[in-house]
Amino acid sequence: MKSGIIGYPRIGETRELKFLIEKYFRKEIDEYALEEGAKKLREKQWKDIQRAGIDDITSNDFSYYDQVLDTVFLFNMIEKRYLELGLSNLDTYFAMARGYQGIKGDVKALAMKKWFNTNYHYIVPVVDENTKLKVNDDKIFRHFKEAKRLGIKTTPTIIGPFTLINLIDFKDSIEKTDIIDDLIACYKEVIANLSDLDATWIQIEEPFLVMDLNKSDIELFEYTYRKLLNSKGKLKIKLQTYFGDIRDCYQNIMALDFDGIGLDFIEGKETCHLIKKNGFPEKTFLYAGIVNGKNVWRTSYEKSINIIRKLKASIQEEYLVVNTSCSLLHVPYTVEDEYDVVKNHPLLAFAKEKLIELQDIVKLCKRDDPQKDIKFALNQQYFKKATELRAMKSDNLAKLLMEEDFIRKPNFKDRRDIQKKTLNLPLLPTTTIGSFPQTKEIRTMRSRYKKGKVSKAEYELFIDNKIESCIKLQEELNLDVLVHGEFERSDMVEFFGEKLAGFIFTKKAWVQSYGTRCVKPPIICDDIKRVEPMTLRETLYANQLTNKPVKGMLTGPVTILNWSFPREDISLEQIAYQIGMAIREEVLDLERHGVSIIQVDEAALKEKLPLRREEWGRDYLDWAIRAFRLVHSGVKPETQIHTHMCYSEFNEIIQHIDAMDADVISFEASRSSMDILEAIEKEEFQTEVGPGIYDIHSPRVPSVSELVSNTLKLLTKVRSEKLWINPDCGLKTRGERETIESLRNLVVARNKVLEIRL
Ligand code: GLN
Ligand code: ZN
Repeated sequence: MKSGIIGYPRIGETRELKFLIEKYFRKEIDEYALEEGAKKLREKQWKDIQRAGIDDITSNDFSYYDQVLDTVFLFNMIEKRYLELGLSNLDTYFAMARGYQGIKGDVKALAMKKWFNTNYHYIVPVVDENTKLKVNDDKIFRHFKEAKRLGIKTTPTIIGPFTLINLIDFKDSIEKTDIIDDLIACYKEVIANLSDLDATWIQIEEPFLVMDLNKSDIELFEYTYRKLLNSKGKLKIKLQTYFGDIRDCYQNIMALDFDGIGLDFIEGKETCHLIKKNGFPEKTFLYAGIVNGKNVWRTSYEKSINIIRKLKASIQEEYLVVNTSCSLLHVPYTVEDEYDVVKNHPLLAFAKEKLIELQDIVKLCKRDDPQKDIKFALNQQYFKKATELRAMKSDNLAKLLMEEDFIRKPNFKDRRDIQKKTLNLPLLPTTTIGSFPQTKEIRTMRSRYKKGKVSKAEYELFIDNKIESCIKLQEELNLDVLVHGEFERSDMVEFFGEKLAGFIFTKKAWVQSYGTRCVKPPIICDDIKRVEPMTLRETLYANQLTNKPVKGMLTGPVTILNWSFPREDISLEQIAYQIGMAIREEVLDLERHGVSIIQVDEAALKEKLPLRREEWGRDYLDWAIRAFRLVHSGVKPETQIHTHMCYSEFNEIIQHIDAMDADVISFEASRSSMDILEAIEKEEFQTEVGPGIYDIHSPRVPSVSELVSNTLKLLTKVRSEKLWINPDCGLKTRGERETIESLRNLVVARNKVLEIRL
């Protein structure tokens, strides 16, 4: 029995790669220096993994930006607009990732999307009539050789043809079948070259196999691999799946001549059952993904050994490889050098620690009586200790809560009539999403406060001054519903996590989100409780400065959950309800203190939507929406509840969004088409809507006439009594000047529209 991994983080333990690449972007270092730095990082990682005793070590999982973009580049799927810039290879690559603006031209970046059910984003490949597929890059070969020179024989990894073709954005009415043969030829060439270099294995990653597949998808898959496998030569081919099970195509895969197959035993709920029911091909390696590559907790050795024991019934031991469930890209590097709470936590295990677990499990499985091993006993103790550490036994809120706890009264229409009277807002009310520009001054002040260089009183006074000018500005601009500006917050989840009980924060547990951007998700380790008011001081301060309503501004339970690492001893549903109860207390406290409009942001609502449609409701949306409803079901009819979502790609779940039962929702609609508005019209969406009338992700100031025309367009789909006028997201990342000008134009545009329409 052996051990393996699918991939390793690459950004560097202290984000060295991020800083190197950003230096290259700023032209502070050249390509040579960048590559030399990257090479050192790769060497260190390979050696670390080797030292940990892992048998199957990958190469080509390293990337300057994104592994999908690497594959796009490898196969020459480079649009003309990038080639025409006449840049070096590396700069062409970066131009595709981030756009290019300079003496050679002005080209936008390729689109970016969420990688399956993770918070990692990949670059969306484009194929058009000019695309000429060929093997165009040598990174995969170069890195294999590089490791070999260090005495490490790696398994090069590559995104597979089936996944790639399903992620492509096809232009010029080109179809999958038009390119599949050329694509297969490219993969064949890579396989042949690796074989010449004396590689033993290649890992082909096919996460798309865990999605809902129809007959023609499966046919395409079979067609591709039949062709690919019939000429594989001596190179062994491992098909690697992750993020779920392969229930739609298990037998189809098993019938093909793979040398190894990687399956996910963590998110793949049916994996064990599928093997038991259908068996597993002889003389084929099973890479059993039993160490969670996506979460930060230790693996239970007892559970792992049980799985392996069952697998031994269908698979010979020498064909078993203990593996991670997906690439370790999705967890931070190590708990070493962390804050004490992290380092000393009995249950935390990041990438480096998971390598040790893989080894331990292999060793334990080789014993006849693993239970007698000290490692086994220690592992059990860790779990016991963690339970003891937790503040109290979790109340099972899922059982304790009653149906009426999730239902706000009176119904939407009755409340709306009451609110129209009490709030007395004009037609097409104007507002913003919450944050105002976070200037350097604010960020510096916050970091000084956190380091203890500035007293609390001083910091609060500073924030209050910011709030005061923000309120003044909004009054001058004549907006209708004001906000306090969120100057006291760095991040919408971190801010609440720091104030709630039940979270752990890390010093450097960074995870790549896209390109050089990393996030540091908080870790939910205990029951979540509200211990003190979190937003009251700033909101009330803002409220008494003006006669207009100021929105209370909170982050919703699903977003807090989805942007954290959740604990695993209770269900996500229970965690969501715990956070929901905590935010509910804040809502009621704000209401009690006279705040009449409260916004509960659910920017990340869609993040953990299951990959399979049949699981959307039962396994996720049913409880996610209930968690949101729990937050506001206790408020008075007069209190208006707003919510906000960032990506308006929610056509398919629009009824669930309406079932959140908020009074108003704002969302991004300026970049995406009018699709969502058509869905809103068609589905008789009852919540009032504020589809952002301009894009805040760009510094561009929209003109009055543009905003008038956007608003008129919205009015063809939404009745004026239901429409709100606002930007499409928070203004935090924008400059002050463009913010003021844009908002001024927004109010003028609204007034013009009222003149035209009345
Ligand atoms: N209220 C938050 C803000 O304005 C919302 C941020 C978000 O949607 N990502 O910054
Ligand atoms: Zn947003």
